[in-house]
Amino acid sequence: MLTQLREIVEQVSAAAELQSALDILVNKTRAVMGADCCSIFIVQSQQLSLMAACGPCADAIGELSLPLGEGVQWQVALREEPINLADIHQHPRFIDLPGLCDTQLHGFLGVPIIHQRQVLGVLVVQQQQKRFFDESEESFLVTLAAQIAVVIAHDEAKGKLQTGLHLGICQHFQGLASAPGIGIAKALIWNPHVELEQVGIHKAEYPARQLVRLDLAIEQVFDELDRVSLCLKETLSGDTLAIFDIYRHLLKDPLYLQGIRDEIGQRSHTAATAVKLVSERMVAQFSQMRDPYFQERSSDIRDVARRLLSRLVQNEVDQQEFPDEFILIAEEISAATLAELPRDKLRGIVSAHGSHHSHAAILAKALGVPAVMGLNLPLDELNHSSLIIDGYSGDLFVNPDSSTMQRYREYQAQESSLIDDVMHHEQGPAALEDGVEISLLLNIGLGEEQIHDGLHFDGVGLYRSEYPFMLQDSFPSELEQQASYRAILKHFRDKPVCMRILDVGGDKLLPYFPVVEPNPFLGWRGIRLMLDHPEIFLQQLKAMLRADQGLGNLSIMLPMVTTLHEIFESRRLLEQAWKELKEEKEGAGEEITALPRLGVMLEVPSLLYLFDELAGKVDFISIGTNDLTQYLLAVDRNNTRVSPLYDVLHPALLRALEPLPVLAREHGKPLSVCGELAGDPIGALVLVAMGYRQLSMNRMNLSRIKYILRRVRLDELQPLLKQGMAEESSELLRKSFTDYLEFKKLGGFLRAGA
Ligand code: PEP
Ligand code: MG
Repeated sequence: MLTQLREIVEQVSAAAELQSALDILVNKTRAVMGADCCSIFIVQSQQLSLMAACGPCADAIGELSLPLGEGVQWQVALREEPINLADIHQHPRFIDLPGLCDTQLHGFLGVPIIHQRQVLGVLVVQQQQKRFFDESEESFLVTLAAQIAVVIAHDEAKGKLQTGLHLGICQHFQGLASAPGIGIAKALIWNPHVELEQVGIHKAEYPARQLVRLDLAIEQVFDELDRVSLCLKETLSGDTLAIFDIYRHLLKDPLYLQGIRDEIGQRSHTAATAVKLVSERMVAQFSQMRDPYFQERSSDIRDVARRLLSRLVQNEVDQQEFPDEFILIAEEISAATLAELPRDKLRGIVSAHGSHHSHAAILAKALGVPAVMGLNLPLDELNHSSLIIDGYSGDLFVNPDSSTMQRYREYQAQESSLIDDVMHHEQGPAALEDGVEISLLLNIGLGEEQIHDGLHFDGVGLYRSEYPFMLQDSFPSELEQQASYRAILKHFRDKPVCMRILDVGGDKLLPYFPVVEPNPFLGWRGIRLMLDHPEIFLQQLKAMLRADQGLGNLSIMLPMVTTLHEIFESRRLLEQAWKELKEEKEGAGEEITALPRLGVMLEVPSLLYLFDELAGKVDFISIGTNDLTQYLLAVDRNNTRVSPLYDVLHPALLRALEPLPVLAREHGKPLSVCGELAGDPIGALVLVAMGYRQLSMNRMNLSRIKYILRRVRLDELQPLLKQGMAEESSELLRKSFTDYLEFKKLGGFLRAGA
């Protein structure tokens, strides 16, 4: 049954539109389960409407609707659980509706179709025989219902979007608030997915240029295939990987390429049109062949053509003058993508994947760009439409009407006057109203422009060293690393700079060092990878030590530490690198700068229970609340589906954090927080109330947090914390800190227009 299940799921997902997906589902399910009837009802305006059916009730498709609460089908939807009956006629809610043919059918199994806790419909199988469906049949149907739920939800969103775009009316969609701020601009699609059918027939003014564009796109697709096959090498079998050879072969096929070149050279078509015409012709030829092997090839041609078209469209976007203002739309945003964009024109980010705590969101926050992620929409359709995004609440408005536009322009004006006010008050150290001093440090290293003029801060609390590694085609050499670290240490020469050792793995991958794992966040990440590759680790340590010569403001921090042994091993390598440098220096009659302080990030929960031993082995500790939250709550920080569970104020997390400032003081070890919690208005107040006195955050947040801290009092924060910590959930704590900020006229930092 598993193979059949997989087959049905694949065919349903590949269907071009919802109705064919539903038809495939009912036909295949009925056949596989040997049922007499299979049907799908969808909730529409408080009715359950029969949308697809196979068997005796097929004639009633589109005509039959069950009013709210009527029929056993409604019971399935209302109870949100399967109902399995040997004879539906015996059920008190049974109704004999014309068209439903229930008189002949007895055995009944209905399962709800649910997406994100919302019931979208009911999937039903029926049989003439009076018998219960067995357990395996029930779980088969439940699995299918979960699959079709995604397809239906996507189609509903698509329908709503298309209607809005067609009629030019305002439509609202809810995503995840991922980086604060209001963005108003036209959408610009990045890395589009282009189907052959979407490409129009266009003539080119300069065919020679089109030929150059074609060659570039072919080269890019070759590179892309190499990269993808390299990444999948460890997980896919040789047979499956052979598909990439077929693609490469096709991209070299003289007939295919000559056909495209002729369309451009002889008929003056654009490169995209030429790819479309030639590929469509070949797809048609291959699909008509008898041999299944050749029939299969038609989907390969389609896939290769899709890749070529995406590149051609993307290159056009790259070359075009970016509009003065745009909101970037993409399936997934990477730090590398953000690096390629003109930041002065970027007004916001919308993506299907990711959430508040993914690294793309952290970067967006550092750049001050609002972001809304986790939208289950056909994003390609948004291209060039007018958008408003609210990064405080996750709202997205497509084609906003004038009143929505006016409201958001007002919010935007309030926001920018608040930011102006904040910027005017950023000099001088941070202290609470009642004089308690807080040391504020900067998080840097994501490639964000650091403009520090006029800003007072106490040092760099976190330099994420992986970003330069992510933007290269190969590992940067020791000399290259040294130069970039030196530039940073020199730039902040009068302040301490804490550089974190390369933290790759999880959602931060190096294109030239593919790591494919089933659970990347629980896998080969951070210090684990570095200790397994001492040559890479030592090179980075040496580059950092050399960069620090004559400056002495460097400290080094280890990411993703789980055991004390990892610290021991890392210190051994650090001392080895330092001694080598010392000998070299002594040989040249020069002095060496002192061994930098070595600290760890506390981001794996194991260290919470080893805190005393840990404090004895390191020079400082910095808490990475982004990962600590993910690991303590077992919630993938990058996964849109579980993002509501990623609660940075979860009582378990707060109880873990609360005792640490006292413990660290007892050990005489500096303790800071460098996760996003420190730069969050409520998070920062909670941490300060707990006794944390060193907070590290991005430049945008640093000004805001300083502004807030100067207007609050410790003796007012502590009772709020005490009361909130006694609760079972974070709700009350969040509310009391929100009310407090509102009371202090600082609510504007929490959401637009407050
Ligand atoms: C953290 O985990 O809190 C942290 C600061 O590191 P990163 O977000 O880079 O994983
Ligand atoms: Mg981390």
